[in-house]
Amino acid sequence: MRRLSSIAIAAGLSMAALSALSWAATAPAKPAAKASPSAVRPVTIGALDGAAIANADRHPGDWLSHGRDYQEQRFSPLTQINAANVGRLGLAWHADLGSTRGLEGTPLVVGGVIYNVQPWNIVKAFDARTGKQLWSYDPKVPEGTARNGCCDIVTRGLAAWKGKIYVATLDGRLIALDAKTGKPSWTVNTFDDGQKALLTITGAPRVFDGKVVIGNAGGESAARGYITAYDAATGKQSWRFYIVPGDPALKEAPNQATADKVARPTWNGEFWKSGGGGNDWDTIIYDPKLKLVYIGTGNAAPWAPQFRSTMPGDDNLFNSSIVALHVEDGSYAWHYQEIPNEQWDFDATAPLMLADLKIDGKVRQTIMHAPKNGFFYVLDRATGKLISAKDYIPQNWADGIDLETGRPRIRKEMLLTEKPILVIPNAAHNWQSMAFNPQTGLVYFPVNETGRIIALKPDFQLKIGGLSQTGESLVGYPDLRKQLAEENRKHQNYFLIAWDPVKQKEAWRVPYKRGGSGGVLTTAGNLVFQGTSDATLAAYDARTGKKLWESPVQQSPIAAPISYSLGGVQYIAINAGFGGGLAHDNVNASEPGLNLYDYGRLLVFKLDGKAKLPEFKFMRAALEPPPRIPHSNGDVREGFDVYNANCAVCHGADARGGVKDLRRMSSQTHKDFFDIVLRGKRAANGMPNFGDKLSQRDAEMIQKYLVARIEDDWVELKAGN
Ligand code: CA
Repeated sequence: MRRLSSIAIAAGLSMAALSALSWAATAPAKPAAKASPSAVRPVTIGALDGAAIANADRHPGDWLSHGRDYQEQRFSPLTQINAANVGRLGLAWHADLGSTRGLEGTPLVVGGVIYNVQPWNIVKAFDARTGKQLWSYDPKVPEGTARNGCCDIVTRGLAAWKGKIYVATLDGRLIALDAKTGKPSWTVNTFDDGQKALLTITGAPRVFDGKVVIGNAGGESAARGYITAYDAATGKQSWRFYIVPGDPALKEAPNQATADKVARPTWNGEFWKSGGGGNDWDTIIYDPKLKLVYIGTGNAAPWAPQFRSTMPGDDNLFNSSIVALHVEDGSYAWHYQEIPNEQWDFDATAPLMLADLKIDGKVRQTIMHAPKNGFFYVLDRATGKLISAKDYIPQNWADGIDLETGRPRIRKEMLLTEKPILVIPNAAHNWQSMAFNPQTGLVYFPVNETGRIIALKPDFQLKIGGLSQTGESLVGYPDLRKQLAEENRKHQNYFLIAWDPVKQKEAWRVPYKRGGSGGVLTTAGNLVFQGTSDATLAAYDARTGKKLWESPVQQSPIAAPISYSLGGVQYIAINAGFGGGLAHDNVNASEPGLNLYDYGRLLVFKLDGKAKLPEFKFMRAALEPPPRIPHSNGDVREGFDVYNANCAVCHGADARGGVKDLRRMSSQTHKDFFDIVLRGKRAANGMPNFGDKLSQRDAEMIQKYLVARIEDDWVELKAGN
């Protein structure tokens, strides 16, 4: 039994005592109750505070915060469902959520209530035992906001604290709801610095030190990223931290001074005009003992360094970094930049995770990270010093990481030029939840092993106020692009990985046919749960990866599973609804047999659950041939350019999928095409009005391009019908 955590072994304690020992924030440490369901002590929502989250193992029946506790290990200490009996898992109840867009949210469970969030930031509370809906709150996000975001109208979670549920909306509001009624208690606008048109929020707020904290997305719109902390009781702003320096003519807040001293020398020219990016659109994590907040920052804006800073090779801090801030005032503590002079959209926003690991005979307080760029990083979370880094999949942008300096040895031939190159990986692991099991010492996360063809626009002109201000070119060098695409197709692998963070080595993997599998939960029952791109929920042996149970769920759940227990019964819950960025990255939505984009559901399982999941009323309309619209090669080329600049982020490269597969438009949709694109006819369904941006001619050329695409793919589309 090698798998007890190093600390538990060192201290001679049971696993259940581990978190209580190292994470007691206010109460004296005492061994937690054994995590059997009968010993579970639920927290009441009114009593939920920072100490409860810091000592989440004392309340194993609840799921109190986004990653369950402040370490965000997504490890449930519950053992009623375990490797020996998981075969008996069955549906306890389900809730139809009335959404057809990507469900990325992790629900919370506090005091017998499950709080869930779905597209358009609609929050719903359910009785966690029966599934009875208790209340629903719709913040009425303006439909046009969908245009500001890169990847669907998704949302990843909520926060809870002292009787309140916090939701952050796509259009930048942070709202505190009364957890009993769902009525707003206070609302603040977090986009109050003049960048409203550039930003969106898809991440979950977190609560610590009496503050509720939220970031934003905007690195593809030439924004200047920041995170803000508000008083959790009143909504009054406590502090804001800007991730990249701004216009030197502006007076910065005092908490920005140290960061400014470190970051400003790494930029040159009038860099603030292109925003700089760095937006932390997902991960925020907290160590209550060190009183440090850790953020993972996004790609630089624009992507190409020569468009944002005049000195070649500038580091451009704090893009693509892990940054530690003091919780009191949001001032800079330390940073580790994963990629200086970042230029491939390698956000460092994947979930950060804290764990105490025994490395070279010493227990180290670590922070672990497996971002898009393909490396697994282990850092000392007190100092920011890199302990180790290893590529978890084959990659071609760096010859390793220098452990002395912490810097990657970037391969010169992978620097961006106008000539396309194939960068591997693309987004090896993105926002999907990662889990750590202290009993196995392994970290689990989904991996998409594939590359990206990328090139610079020779005549790039920054236009403030629109998405895709990246400087990326999708045209030119057609033969080379074809050859690189062929090369890329040769080594695409998709799998669930179990990674040993101490040895920096793969322990096992479960391969999948296609990309798009979801986030991960692990439990003390020696289990790993994951929604798969085969439209199932599966459970694996945490030590070996052996599949122990799998159930079809009629959808590909991309969200994170959670576990809770009530009245002596352990449950597994997951949102099932395909969509988001994955929809256009790794999945051909028209693949035969894949029923995607149907109603999203919250699914809850227990041992011997006997509920039946009703068959979807299959929403996909019958395939219709495209209208006969004449289109010259020039028209199609023009339409391709307009499509790529405005539509591809949601509807996919080459119009192959995305949030709606436009190759499958009905004849009626084709008839209504201009009303939909230019006059907002389907705005309520999430298709924003582009009338202020696109001309009648633009829309006509887009339609002609789409007609050409349908004709090209007609055989494939028929086969998938
Ligand atoms: Ca990005």
